Amino acid sequence: MCERCGAPGDIVHHKEYITPGNIHDPNITLNHENLEYLCQTCHNREHHGSGEDTVREGLAFNGDGELVRE
Ligand SMILES: [Zn+2]
Ligand SMILES: [Zn+2]
Repeated sequence: MCERCGAPGDIVHHKEYITPGNIHDPNITLNHENLEYLCQTCHNREHHGSGEDTVREGLAFNGDGELVRE
């Protein structure tokens, strides 16, 4: 279940975004305080301010609307 809207959950979002600098830090990547289970829509809204785009963790749309790795 999505923690924000109750829809079927899809993605574990990290509140503190994963970066190359902290990806090996379990206090960030595995800390439940830092995790939020979201549906695709809420996750996209969190990252992109819109529920329109459907992208997976680690992927994003660039300025041209092309799917790229974050
Ligand atoms: Zn949701
Ligand atoms: Zn996320």
